[in-house]
Amino acid sequence: MNIELDVHTHTVASGHAYSSIREMAKEASKKKLKLLGITEHAQGIPGTCSNIYFENLRVVPREMYGVELMLGAEINILDYSGKLSMEDRLIDKLDIRIAGIHNHCYTPGTIEENTNAVIQAIKNPRIDIISHPDDGSCPLDYDLVVQAAKKYNTLLEINNNSINPINRRINARENSIYMLKLCKKYNVQIILASDAHVDTDVGRFNLVYEVLHEVDFPEELIINNSLIDFKNRIKLNRF
Ligand SMILES: [Zn+2]
Ligand SMILES: [Zn+2]
Repeated sequence: MNIELDVHTHTVASGHAYSSIREMAKEASKKKLKLLGITEHAQGIPGTCSNIYFENLRVVPREMYGVELMLGAEINILDYSGKLSMEDRLIDKLDIRIAGIHNHCYTPGTIEENTNAVIQAIKNPRIDIISHPDDGSCPLDYDLVVQAAKKYNTLLEINNNSINPINRRINARENSIYMLKLCKKYNVQIILASDAHVDTDVGRFNLVYEVLHEVDFPEELIINNSLIDFKNRIKLNRF
């Protein structure tokens, strides 16, 4: 495996993460990543930055320590219609756009309701990646989610943080394995995410590697192996 990118990470701006942009970039350089994505939580997560933070991201250099930076957000899916916690005008200013469910601002419904919420975000051409669709407290029909991701060119994430037993997500390891098996069956590319909340976790995929190994997941379906493929995918997905 030759991992070139990690695009789901958080800095102090998210309110419950502990490093600066510069510290994160330095670690990415140390880990020999070509691209680091920093995706602060959008409104809805207690203590995160306000919209003006995202408005002003243009002032930040897009390269540090030889690592390219993409600055964006992890936006909340708020309801069963897939409504997002950031307005389109602001989303359009971001280099990278992740959407995901967080129980701070989403009430889990039936499997149909949750699946619809995620599929509407998958269909939204502003969204590049769905974060951690692995939490058993918000059950999903993975067959439908994986097929929608393929159809609409949106990446599903395998999240190292979720699989960590210190995390409170339910059955995340089992659900990640199940989703990977479907991605293998339908030939759907996935993205690995560290979801680092501290610099030392940037590019850390140790637990993800275990599950990839367990399902004998094909390397060519892991988009982190190619920066060029990743950039092409992002372009393809958007308007
Ligand atoms: Zn998240
Ligand atoms: Zn995150």
